[in-house]
Amino acid sequence: MKAANGKARSVADAPALGRELTEHGLRATRQRVALLGLLRSFPGHPTVVDLHESLLERHGTLSRKTVYEILDSFVRVGLASCPTEGQPARYEANEMPHDHARCRSCGRLFDLPPGAAGRRTARPPGFRVEDVRVLVLGVCRDCDRTARPKR
Ligand SMILES: [Zn+2]
Ligand SMILES: [Zn+2]
Repeated sequence: MKAANGKARSVADAPALGRELTEHGLRATRQRVALLGLLRSFPGHPTVVDLHESLLERHGTLSRKTVYEILDSFVRVGLASCPTEGQPARYEANEMPHDHARCRSCGRLFDLPPGAAGRRTARPPGFRVEDVRVLVLGVCRDCDRTARPKR
């Protein structure tokens, strides 16, 4: 959903990223600024390994554990989300609420427009709903095609 809100943020704008981190109660370290910028510009839903490999090119000493811990802090303060409980964990910057479909075969996550999968849901009596996240499970077109013999 990177382009869907129409205001793509500049990846190079480190001072703005730093201010956002501070506003969310996080110290604006160089590594956090770099990771937040990367997450915003990364296509799809990168894993820790995807992000770590990409960051290593510029921050050679960064450990995977550090990347994981920074992502964890982003999720805690609402700058990022980990939209699936599946392995490997996949992350994205929080820009616009939306639903996901996950391929059981290749593990890829696909964005769905918010509300496309339906907002109405069963809930316990008296339960105040704050948000509904829908995860559609299935097999994507690519995987379905390789599994099916050609006609
Ligand atoms: Zn697939
Ligand atoms: Zn998404």
